[in-house]
Amino acid sequence: MSITLYNTATRRKEPFAPLDPENVRMYVCGPTVYDRAHLGNARPVLVFDVLYRLLRHEYGADAVTYVRNFTDVDDKINATALARKEAGADGTLEELVAQRSDETIGWYHADMDALGALRPNHEPRATQFIPQMVAMIEDLIGKGFAYARDGHVLFRVRAYDDYGKLSGRSVDDMIAGARVEVAPYKEDPMDFVLWKPSTDDLPGWDSPWGRGRPGWHIECSAMAYDLLGRFDPEGKGQFDIHGGGNDLQFPHHENEIAQSKCAGHGFANLWMHNEMLQVEGKKMSKSLGNFFTVRDLLDQGVPGEVIRFVMLSTHYRKPMDWTEKKRAEAEATLRKIAEVLGRDLLQKSWTVSGTFKPPKEFVEALSDDLNTSLALTLVRKYLKSEDELKLHSSLELLGFCPHAITNKFFAFEAHARVSDVGYGQGVRSFGDDAAVESKGLDSLAARLQTLRELAIESKDFSEVDALKAALQDSGLEVRMDKNGVQLLRGPNFDATKLEGLS
Ligand code: AMP
Ligand code: ZN
Repeated sequence: MSITLYNTATRRKEPFAPLDPENVRMYVCGPTVYDRAHLGNARPVLVFDVLYRLLRHEYGADAVTYVRNFTDVDDKINATALARKEAGADGTLEELVAQRSDETIGWYHADMDALGALRPNHEPRATQFIPQMVAMIEDLIGKGFAYARDGHVLFRVRAYDDYGKLSGRSVDDMIAGARVEVAPYKEDPMDFVLWKPSTDDLPGWDSPWGRGRPGWHIECSAMAYDLLGRFDPEGKGQFDIHGGGNDLQFPHHENEIAQSKCAGHGFANLWMHNEMLQVEGKKMSKSLGNFFTVRDLLDQGVPGEVIRFVMLSTHYRKPMDWTEKKRAEAEATLRKIAEVLGRDLLQKSWTVSGTFKPPKEFVEALSDDLNTSLALTLVRKYLKSEDELKLHSSLELLGFCPHAITNKFFAFEAHARVSDVGYGQGVRSFGDDAAVESKGLDSLAARLQTLRELAIESKDFSEVDALKAALQDSGLEVRMDKNGVQLLRGPNFDATKLEGLS
């Protein structure tokens, strides 16, 4: 099946033809690791995770190399390290900087893992590629595209004729619209930094221009070349796809292209950019009070699958709005999916991952410029027709683990009808633990029903209320009506909270 992708550089959808189908190569700009990832940062992670999965599906799991970097040269990382040092933390400033990056990268991994994102094949850190950056800068100076002045090295933007082509702007338009910094060491205000000096209290590396550190843009050019471009079978330094958020098009990606092309490396054949994420119709910002991290949501009990579902409901080239309504709808749909997938699970032999291929129409939807919103519409269709095989295989390709959905969202039901009190109902179970848990829920439902019946006579509902509150606190939904009591296991159900109750 052929894949078609929208290329920002040509502004149209193009059939995707990899340079080497046995090694499809993709680079995506990763986070600056100074703090927890916010919800917006998760959007490119999920968009390119689906693309990575689709490419692996099409070309083979071992035939795709995905690189996403960590920018660990940054003033905010340094500031945290410096503050810790001043507060008496052990270690040199370099060690404290590395510690802060390690800590943030650990959080990033945990948070993105929770969203079901596969780890890329390479996650290079900028600080591990300084010699490659220095070599590239020296090459650019030698070729006349860059110049050194006062410990800085600048890229000469006007020496590269195609500057601005990616975002479709002229250099003069960009000067008018951008906040370019005028500085005495610049020949032209548009010129951007390849290398800058470091003071003694900041991390730095020795270079032909003195002790300093790289500019942000050269990091990606050097890492993309070293991990992907070098493997171009034609030796031109090209690779297939470069991705990132829309906000990176200018100046970051324009600068990456200029540096790499002028160094004679070639670069990405196709550029993809995701649109931004907003919250309840507004730009996410600390001042509006609608800024939150992925971890904030996970800690509030929003499962990673719900975040993934909401994110993929909007096509990546459209702005996406995170709303409470969408969160609730996604959760309800996942519950229904769990209901269908969880039915008679023990009798199903096909639930082993990868057993069945997703339907053709589903793969076609994703192959049409990653139409995840159509793909989820198809998932809803398979849900409606209760087609378990199609549901299972499609969800897998979209990066959902059907088993995890069943485990998290299947509402184990414990019923205690008026006539049943005292008898454990046979409930569905997925394993020994779950079966024990279900029996426990059955007896709790029965107890609540008994207390209710007593309370109806005594008119004292305090014990009913106390038990109900404890059950709800464990993440159970408690339904009571004239027929009896029903306990439904919610996604945040924590059985340990029931200890001492049953
Ligand atoms: P940063 O750490 O800010 O460089 O961002 C890491 C990635 O997240 C980049 O690909 C950004 O384009 C992307 N990104 C940042 N904010 C948002 C947002 N609100 N919506 C979608 N993507 C974003
Ligand atoms: Zn980059």
